[in-house]
Amino acid sequence: MKQLKEFIIKGIANSIGSFYKDTTKIRCFTYHNISDSGKDKFTLSNKIFVQHIEYIYENEYRTIDSNFFLCNRKPKLSDKKVICLTFDDGFKNNLYVADLLLEYKLKAIFFITTSFVNQDKYLDWGEVKELSNRGFEIGSHSHTHRNFRMLNNQELYNELSISKDILQNKLGKEIKSFAFPFGKINTLNEIVYEILEKTNYLVAYTQIGGHITENLNIFKIPRNGINSTDNVHIFRKKLEGNYDVFKNITYLP
Ligand SMILES: [Zn+2]
Repeated sequence: MKQLKEFIIKGIANSIGSFYKDTTKIRCFTYHNISDSGKDKFTLSNKIFVQHIEYIYENEYRTIDSNFFLCNRKPKLSDKKVICLTFDDGFKNNLYVADLLLEYKLKAIFFITTSFVNQDKYLDWGEVKELSNRGFEIGSHSHTHRNFRMLNNQELYNELSISKDILQNKLGKEIKSFAFPFGKINTLNEIVYEILEKTNYLVAYTQIGGHITENLNIFKIPRNGINSTDNVHIFRKKLEGNYDVFKNITYLP
């Protein structure tokens, strides 16, 4: 069933998706765990991840972080081959990821779920600090990673403010960015945007696919998920925009 679903998605991306192909559009990508031992949908093997990075480098994609969006509220769409790489949850392997990114002079944002830090599969505080010291942007991915759809206003406020305070205290830097846990369209609404403003976040990233448009809502930046089956050929299609065809569909590849 899973394979059939992947086959259909690939087929749509390669056919109808070709009409969406446009490398002048800016796209963000969401990675999770990079590991050879994880078997879940979101864990990408080290080998494939290296291939992604080599592809980005060899094809001269420019990588950006939140400063780009904060300085360009209306991002220039003629900016060729611009992408934003993000890593959610704060997995232990993020330091290895950072080594590789530095080697290729690529930027990225690491979104940390603060209550996960120091737990088994995740970074400890020394390692989060190391990522920050190496020049990577650190953002919040909430405190406990609960689905925002299930939370009342006070709980939403706590998820946003507690994680921000902890990160700022530990890193001694202002935390400007937030990535919604699960990040689906049904978790985003005016109340969430108000609380983001109240807790002084400047930019927020979703898990809604597609590319950056000129009328960008800075609290609703789209990101395209990277899955365990995304070999370099599929990744290339995602970079070029074929998968933008799925942006309004609940299933997000
Ligand atoms: Zn997450």
